[in-house]
Amino acid sequence: MIHRSDRLHNVTYELRGPVYEKSKELERRGHTVTNLNIGNPAPFGFNAPAEVIQHMALNLGNAQGYSDHKGLLSAREAVKRYYEGIGLQGVQADDIFLGNGLSELIMHAVQALLNDGDEMLIPSPDYPLWTAAVSFSGGKPVHYICDEASGWFPDISDIRSKITLRTKAIVLINPNNPTGAVYSKELLQEIVDVAEEHNLIIFSDEIYDKILYDGTVHIPTATLTDAVLCITMSGLSKNYLAAGFRAGWMLLSGAKAKAADYIDGLNTLASLRVCSNVPAQYAIQVALEGTPSVRDLVLPTGRLGQQRAVCYDKLTAIPGISCVKPMGAFYMFPRIDAKKFAIHNDQQFVIDLLAAQHIFVVQGSGFNWHKPDHFRIVYLPPVEVLSQTVDKMALFLSTYKQA
Ligand code: PLP
Repeated sequence: MIHRSDRLHNVTYELRGPVYEKSKELERRGHTVTNLNIGNPAPFGFNAPAEVIQHMALNLGNAQGYSDHKGLLSAREAVKRYYEGIGLQGVQADDIFLGNGLSELIMHAVQALLNDGDEMLIPSPDYPLWTAAVSFSGGKPVHYICDEASGWFPDISDIRSKITLRTKAIVLINPNNPTGAVYSKELLQEIVDVAEEHNLIIFSDEIYDKILYDGTVHIPTATLTDAVLCITMSGLSKNYLAAGFRAGWMLLSGAKAKAADYIDGLNTLASLRVCSNVPAQYAIQVALEGTPSVRDLVLPTGRLGQQRAVCYDKLTAIPGISCVKPMGAFYMFPRIDAKKFAIHNDQQFVIDLLAAQHIFVVQGSGFNWHKPDHFRIVYLPPVEVLSQTVDKMALFLSTYKQA
């Protein structure tokens, strides 16, 4: 037998886990499945800005060679100007790393930091790559609670109670996947203060920072501190609807002086993989300097705004389902009333839904949520499809085993 390495033992990614295989099997057998498992805008008819695609295509000839391991200077200069424009001063192109999507940079950032047994504070629920990256690196993911009753904001006292001498960093996902919460300046300031007090790095995953509803304002964590090493992480996948290009970046700011050795480690990992996909690097400057295509989509009359409204209204009309209205991103994380439904295994619940109605959502435990009482739905399909889908979910729940 050939076995996986021990490092993979606690590593999972349920968005493409066993239920995903069941969904593919249904499709192979000729069924149409509504796949609401992953935040991939293109299959639902969203397009990256035309000028971004054209610029990338025009530059294919210039993109034949490797770039610098951190990425093309022109693209990193564009990222620098972008962050200066939203209030982050003193950024240098040298503080920016480009990656094959943000996913690769999350792996690098965590792998370069942790020794066996080192701890990282990660939200629960989370985007599960963060937990997976920590486990894969030999670290211990320690989950802090985001409180549904407080609009899914992180519970600061829970964060404080979980800090130990081994805690190296805290992860913020803002706007949040899977809950859609967008954090206030006051909350972010409290987290920055905790990080400063305990000498923690902040990883601020802001990949949905332009997908905001109802006039919500996003505060980049890095603008609140010079004293903490803050690593801001983003990319083109969501804000520019270009998930397939695999273009992400991370930007180091704040207490860089005390992190020279860690930064050297990041350089080593970046250079080991030589560089990220160069054609996609060409997309970054045009995207950041062009008109953000999501700007109109998130308006109440825009596609995402409308889909959010329909999904929220219909889901919360189902007896036994409640949901905090998301203020950002394109996910909802509804709660299933445990007093009404007898769900002990939330993976089985999503398997049952898939089998009965050919709808694929991801169970809450796939986002490191501790109770079998949530699931995540992606509201990227057009309004008619979403509406029919939620009707089918209501039908499914109307016959589901009661508690
Ligand atoms: N971070 C969050 C919160 C995400 O939701 C995702 C993708 O869904 C990523 C990071 C990874 O994005 P990508 O690798 O496409 O840049």
